[in-house]
Amino acid sequence: MSDARAPMSRPALPPRRSVPAPPPRPESTIEVPAPTGIAARIASLQLNQIGRNPLDREPKPVAKSPPPPPPRRNAPSLPPRSTAPRRTLAEIAECDPQLAERLSRRPPPPPLPKRTTSSPTVPARRLPPMPSRLPTPPPEPEYEEPEPEPEYEEEEEQSDEGYQSQESESCMKCFDFSQVDAHASQFPRQNVASVRQLALDLTAPFASETEKARALFYWLHCNIIYDVEAFFSGNLSASTAESTLRSGLAVCDGYAGLFVSLAEYAGLQAHKVTGHGKGVGYAALAPGAPVPPESSNHAWNCVLMDGEWRLLDSCWGAGALMGDAYAQRFAPVWFTSTPSEFGKRHFPTDPSYQLIGEADGGPISWEEYICAPEEPLVYGDFDSQNFLRDLLQPATAEIQSGGWVSFHLFKQCEHMSRDEADNYVYFINAPDDSKTTLRVNAEGGWSANIYMPRGLAGDVSLNFVTSFDNRDAKGLSPEKFTSSIGRKAMAWQGMCKWRLV
Ligand SMILES: [Zn+2]
Repeated sequence: MSDARAPMSRPALPPRRSVPAPPPRPESTIEVPAPTGIAARIASLQLNQIGRNPLDREPKPVAKSPPPPPPRRNAPSLPPRSTAPRRTLAEIAECDPQLAERLSRRPPPPPLPKRTTSSPTVPARRLPPMPSRLPTPPPEPEYEEPEPEPEYEEEEEQSDEGYQSQESESCMKCFDFSQVDAHASQFPRQNVASVRQLALDLTAPFASETEKARALFYWLHCNIIYDVEAFFSGNLSASTAESTLRSGLAVCDGYAGLFVSLAEYAGLQAHKVTGHGKGVGYAALAPGAPVPPESSNHAWNCVLMDGEWRLLDSCWGAGALMGDAYAQRFAPVWFTSTPSEFGKRHFPTDPSYQLIGEADGGPISWEEYICAPEEPLVYGDFDSQNFLRDLLQPATAEIQSGGWVSFHLFKQCEHMSRDEADNYVYFINAPDDSKTTLRVNAEGGWSANIYMPRGLAGDVSLNFVTSFDNRDAKGLSPEKFTSSIGRKAMAWQGMCKWRLV
């Protein structure tokens, strides 16, 4: 596939380091970016914080520059890898920079078959534990209808209309990965010669590590099917990158393992992380319930991308279980999540893989993680409309009646348009079937304050108006919607749901 190496025309991504940064040292100081932009504005909001994890009260700013390295506490450093080649390269560079440059383009040597146990600095507890329970399959899709492939509608429109600023080019949340995804979809598994060749084919056109990683992430969605039979039978056999490539079947461990191998051949630094995932079968603990012992049922990845360690879950990104059937549905949120967003549903056995610094309240304890109150039920359209789960208010599934309730909604990042012309009407449907539109607030999101009389109980839903008068309803004004209820043909779709009690 020599043509795959032809450079593709594409927008700029974050500045790339010519040499991947080494894993952070234990002594690393933690620099925390001061809240700016949307975070600072949100911090000034009087948000409804009932029952919310105090760690969430100060939303994290969207990183625009490489954030600090993974936080270190008493935890060991990430396993140093490829140090020998890199030392050699440095030595070579002293006497022959050009040779060093050529060598640096070569992929690293193949990983040792049991490379997760190869680092002597890795403590025993870092070793992948045998699952104490079945691995966590992808979360149940919270969809009422099948989801189309990811759309980049908003970003494209922003580009066309000049909304996208320079700084947004380095924003993972709104970067347009459609060309990367299109490239990654051109290598069907059945035609792949080897893990190494696949890694090179997938990543060759891309200069940035973020795009390389995304190509691997998207390929896994297209080509590896969740092994539903193995999961439900409990008959889980060990996998290797090669065996996963050949079978096209994996549970979380197989996805994470193949990602690491592909990443290494592509010259990226990636680790497999094991721990607990709140996937299928997870239910929030009842308030006051005893804290269950820490357990491990899931695996994902920690990847160095353009100077920043990030977390991704290619298993959950690839699809989801619907009942006992697997739906191959792409979930890009598991590539773009910040560590704090990721940590809501992932708890690594080694806390250093949380990537949450002490200044940001990290590391999160098992108790904080597993006893977190139940969140509102969020549907896929919430994500596809580019809203950020972390900032949704109320943040808990239950809402108390007998007072005012504040609803707040924010886009994934501040580069995304909030103009009426680029958005739909968002409204709250109360149990009495009253409909209250959310209005743009001064903090860059949407809000509504609604009085919920005592005794009113039932579902409260957040919806967006999809069609108005048999046309797409984007750009409809809240006033027009409100005055047209019962007079015009309209359709709407739920984005999330609470329980009023
Ligand atoms: Zn952005």
